[in-house]
Amino acid sequence: MKLIEYQAKEVFRKYGLPVQKGFVARSVDEVRTGLSALEFPVVIKAQVPVGGRGKAGGIKLAKDAADALEKATSILGMEIKGIRVKKVLVTEAVDIGKEIYLGIVQDRRARAPVVMVSAEGGIDIEEVARTKPEAIHKLTLDPVWGLQAFQARELGYKLDPDPQRAKHLSQTLLALWRIYRDTDATLAEINPFVFTKQGEPSCVDAKILVDDSALFRHPDIEAMRDMDYENPQEQEAKASDLSFVKLDGRIGCCVNGAGLAMATMDLIKHFGGEPANFLDVGGSSSPEKVKKAFSIILADPNVRSIYLNIFGGITRCDDIAQGLIEVFKEMEIRVPVVARLTGTNEERARQMLAESKLPLIPASTMSEGARKAVELAG
Ligand code: GDP
Ligand code: MN
Repeated sequence: MKLIEYQAKEVFRKYGLPVQKGFVARSVDEVRTGLSALEFPVVIKAQVPVGGRGKAGGIKLAKDAADALEKATSILGMEIKGIRVKKVLVTEAVDIGKEIYLGIVQDRRARAPVVMVSAEGGIDIEEVARTKPEAIHKLTLDPVWGLQAFQARELGYKLDPDPQRAKHLSQTLLALWRIYRDTDATLAEINPFVFTKQGEPSCVDAKILVDDSALFRHPDIEAMRDMDYENPQEQEAKASDLSFVKLDGRIGCCVNGAGLAMATMDLIKHFGGEPANFLDVGGSSSPEKVKKAFSIILADPNVRSIYLNIFGGITRCDDIAQGLIEVFKEMEIRVPVVARLTGTNEERARQMLAESKLPLIPASTMSEGARKAVELAG
């Protein structure tokens, strides 16, 4: 789960890190109201769960109220990397003297967190990483001991020889480490961490990625989930205990088991198609789950055909068939449905489907089903 800047900054605040004073607004009116509590100049910042907002025109300085309203008008509703901006963060601007990159990321290969820091922070950090990798210092941490004070001090001095600033940097790194550890993050990043022209430290941007598998022990973070940026179908699927990921293709997939779902998507691609989703109805699939799965798949207007691919183990094919019969009775199915059911109670399922005369396109092998679904999607 990715925390959006304004949420990550709330976490930063709790850990005593310096963040600019500000507020979140969902409309120009809310910006107008909130501005009375701030001093100018201010920054208007698009709140979307993607980076590179500065380069996309989603971060703008404003010198007075009129200017702020004009810039908020242009940012609210704009699209950044395909995501519509639903809210902005308005903060008092800082006078930037120096931009520094501070980050901790899970390095899967090292099986440990890695601290990365650079005195050349800011919006071009990717460029720095590519063309000047020596400007980025890396330190692999012991996953049990974590970041030690002496290591933080050393990194601080690498970034800035001035003792006062080095101390700010090392204390910030230690706080960032505590945030990373306490939230079960896979990434915690400040880019840029700023020293103002007056020498004051400030976390101008904030990013935290929390490991989804650890969310069960962070109900407070789970509760922060921003519904403005969640896919409604993915949320519905989650509530029904289905694993669903929306994709951009035209072939809806309804499969049991994550491995089979992956293999099904591979086959669809092999036959020149693009899956519209990943969907795993799970092991013990009741007719209810099949109905839910179809309603989620059909909510996507891009879907041109559906491939139901079931390998009955714990899942019983007759349960799936029952679900399908109910789907066709209760829903309007506007696309062809290719069905391949094999395994437990397969005979019985076949009989049920034959008797109910559903307009299904049968497939006897997984490849045949994938090929048909691709052809029918056009
Ligand atoms: P990102 O582009 O999505 O990473 O958004 P950031 O929050 O990092 O902002 C991008 C850039 O905007 C920063 O690197 C700064 O150069 C600039 N910026 C953001 N806030 C301020 C501010 O308060 N004052 C000034 N002068 N520049 C800012
Ligand atoms: Mn940034």
